[in-house]
Amino acid sequence: MARLVMKFGGTSVASVERIRNVARHVKREVDAGFEVAVVVSAMSGKTNELVGWVEDASKLHDKREYDAVVASGEQVTSGLLAIALQEIGVPARSWQGWQIPVETSDAHGSARIENIDGSRIVEGFSRKEVAVVAGFQGVHAASGRITTLGRGGSDTSAVAIAAAIHADRCDIYTDVDGVYTTDPRIVPKARRLDRVAFEEMLEMASLGAKVLQVRSVEVAMVHKIKTFVRSSFDDPADPKPGTLICDEEDILEQQVVTGIAFSKDEAQITLRRVADKPGVAAAIFGPLADANINVDMIIQVVSDDQKTTDMTFTVVTADFERAKALLEKHKAEIAFGELQGATDVVKISAIGIGMRSHAGIAARAFKALADKGINIRAITTSEIKFSVLIDKDYTELAVRTLHSLYGLDKA
Ligand code: ADP
Ligand code: ASP
Ligand code: MG
Repeated sequence: MARLVMKFGGTSVASVERIRNVARHVKREVDAGFEVAVVVSAMSGKTNELVGWVEDASKLHDKREYDAVVASGEQVTSGLLAIALQEIGVPARSWQGWQIPVETSDAHGSARIENIDGSRIVEGFSRKEVAVVAGFQGVHAASGRITTLGRGGSDTSAVAIAAAIHADRCDIYTDVDGVYTTDPRIVPKARRLDRVAFEEMLEMASLGAKVLQVRSVEVAMVHKIKTFVRSSFDDPADPKPGTLICDEEDILEQQVVTGIAFSKDEAQITLRRVADKPGVAAAIFGPLADANINVDMIIQVVSDDQKTTDMTFTVVTADFERAKALLEKHKAEIAFGELQGATDVVKISAIGIGMRSHAGIAARAFKALADKGINIRAITTSEIKFSVLIDKDYTELAVRTLHSLYGLDKA
C-alpha cells in the first residue's frame, strides 16, 4: 500500500477549528487508500511564547530545559489532531519524538536527527491507524533527554520520517500554496513555481526563504524524497498539487534566475586599520571559527599605504555580540584600529541553476540597484547564486527590483 507523510505547520493547526480542517485533509488521503503518518507543528505563536518564557526565566538558561519547555507545543497539537481524527471515524494515535523514537544528537536547541525507528508507525498502519507525530522534537538516546531540532524543525521531522518509513511522498502543508519566486508577502507579483530543483531550494532556504527548513531540503535531497509544498487552506475536497521539489533533470523549462530570497538575520562587522600582512585573516577568523561562529560574506579592502587595510564580514545576528566581544579580546594579536558593527543590514540573494551557464547575471543586478540609489556594502557569488548586503530600509525595493529585472513578476 502506498505511504504518505503529511506535515502541517503552525498556522494550519492554530485552533481546534483549523485542526478539524487538517483532519479532513488527512481523511481524504486515508480514504484514497494511503497509509498516513502526520507530522504537526505547535499552534502558530506558541513556540515563540514558550521561548519568551524560558528567556524570561533566565537569560542564561540550561539548554536541556529550554528543549523540555519548547517541545511542549507539539505535544498538544499531536494529541488534539489524533482526537479530531478519531471524532470523524479515522483511527489515530499520537506519538512524541521520544516514543517513536526520533534519535538526535545532544546539540540542544538545534539537534540533528541521527536515526528514526519507523517500526511503531508501521505497526500502527497494520492496525489501520494514522500516526500523528509531534514535529520539531526528538530524544538524545544516551541521556534520554528531549531535544528540539531548531526553529522550523517540523519540516525536517516530516521528511526524515518519510525516509524512515519509505514513504512514497511527503506533503508539507502550510499557509501558502507552494514555493514562490520570492516571499509572496513582500512581493504580490511573486509567482508560484510548479517545480523547484533540490539544489535551488536548498539555497533559497539557507538564504532566507523560511518556507522550508534548510535541513529538511538536505534530507529530501539525500534520500530522494518526493516532497510537495502545498496549502492546508485549500478545500480538503478539492486539493491543489502545490510545488514539487525535485531533481534538476525533472524541470523542463529552466529559468536563469528561479527565485529571490532575503535574510534580515545578518550583522556586519568592519575592522578598521588592520595590519596588512600575511596571517591577518587567520588571526581574525581563527578565533571566530574556534567559537563556532560562522562567517558569511568577507571583503578585504586593498590598502593604499601597504600598511593597513579594512576587513568587513558578516555573521548571523545571534552571534553578533559574541563575535564583537571575541574580536575585542584578541585585539592585540589581530592589531586593528577600531571595530564597527551594524545590524541594520539585509542580505538579498538571487538563485538559479541557469547561472552556471550564463555570464553577467550578477552585474545586471548591481546596475539595477545602483539606478535605484541602493548602495551595496558587500557581495558574494557562487555557482548558482549571488548575494548583496544592503541597508535594511531598502529590503522591499531591492527584492522587487531584482524580481522584475529577472522576469519573475507574474503577468
Ligand atoms: P509553517 O508554519 O507552515 O511552517 P512558515 O511560516 O514556516 O509556515 O513558512 C511559510 C511562509 O514562508 C509563508 O507564509 C511565506 O511568507 C514565507 N516564504 C518566504 N519565502 C517564500 C517563498 N519563496 N515561497 C513561499 N513562501 C515563502
Ligand atoms: N514549532 C516550531 C517552530 O515554531 C517548529 C516548526 O513549526 O516547524 O519553530
Ligand atoms: Mg515552517
